[in-house]
Amino acid sequence: MDYCPVCGYGPALGYASTEELRCSFEICDCCGCEYGYDDNVAHYERWVAKGCPWFRSKARPLNWSLEEQLTRTIRPWPPERESAR
Ligand SMILES: [Zn+2]
Repeated sequence: MDYCPVCGYGPALGYASTEELRCSFEICDCCGCEYGYDDNVAHYERWVAKGCPWFRSKARPLNWSLEEQLTRTIRPWPPERESAR
């Protein structure tokens, strides 16, 4: 998994699987979600409502394209089988 499933940020994550990502509790440099905790569509919608601010602005690429990044998001997220727990 190279891209943040919530906002599509990447390539930098480097997790082998969805489970590994969601057990990492890492925080996305872009949208600021914490995987396994608040990596969900509600977080995404709050992020968009705030104008898509970078959590760690130094990580922002010079030629960053929000539109291109958003094509890499994964929906539904979190995956159905995990949210059914
Ligand atoms: Zn993100």
